[in-house]
Amino acid sequence: MSINAAPVRSVRVITTGSGSLHPEHMYGSRKPTLWWVARSKEWINIPLNVFVIEHDDGLVLFDTGMDPAAAIDQVDYWPSRIGRWFLDHIFRFDIGPDDRLATQLAAAGYRPEDVTVAVMSHLHFDHAGGVGDIPNAELHVAPDAWDHLIRTPHPERDYVPRERILVPGARWKLMEFEPTDDPDLAPFTEAHDVMGDGSLMVVKTPGHIAGAVSMLIRRADAPPVLLVGDLTYSEELLMRDQVAGTGDRGALLRSFAAVRAMKANLPDLVVVASHDTTASEKLDATSVSAFE
Ligand SMILES: [Zn+2]
Repeated sequence: MSINAAPVRSVRVITTGSGSLHPEHMYGSRKPTLWWVARSKEWINIPLNVFVIEHDDGLVLFDTGMDPAAAIDQVDYWPSRIGRWFLDHIFRFDIGPDDRLATQLAAAGYRPEDVTVAVMSHLHFDHAGGVGDIPNAELHVAPDAWDHLIRTPHPERDYVPRERILVPGARWKLMEFEPTDDPDLAPFTEAHDVMGDGSLMVVKTPGHIAGAVSMLIRRADAPPVLLVGDLTYSEELLMRDQVAGTGDRGALLRSFAAVRAMKANLPDLVVVASHDTTASEKLDATSVSAFE
């Protein structure tokens, strides 16, 4: 590790409810997308996770989870009928009002006002739904994700509900990707340094949707963790090159290869996907105290 200081004290996961998707969505399918969206009868449950990083300079989130309104007030939240039909056939939600970010942060012992930074892996509704719950946070977003949000005529058709995400008063910050030859980051050659101390480094892992990124967490005396958002549903799928049924297959495979190359350099690297059902066990196993 090239980091000597230990600004990251802990990495935990909380969840903002759960949802279900089709196996064809998680594991990919030879069938056309529209076929399995309309016909598949099987559902797999996944958590809608948010990662909480205690850093010396403040509380940092990786993603903000789901807004319960997207499940509870669907007609209001998703004005387009066709969008609701697809949503109904792509995701099922198991979400209650208490699953909102502010409530789940409080339940885990954190004050939502204490969140100083939220790093957005991408802007899908189940990742950007809690931006209104953390009033003091600077929201770090990749330039490509921001362009898609602002310039696409109908980002909601990609499940990026612009009017919900652009919360009045929110402080957005475009990530600044700088060239780097940091050996821990290879083969990635540019990164956004979230806290300015090298402990939280964002790299571009395109393929899932515009501006999708991953974040490397480096600690002095615990294994590094790579949070990959929705690049994959689990490390195992990434390791065996099994891409999901949505997104840009070629770009996903290139991003998979880059993450595997990073892991070859950092053998103890722990890769955690946003909807990984084992995220909390994986993080517990890498916690600092587990290595003392
Ligand atoms: Zn997503």
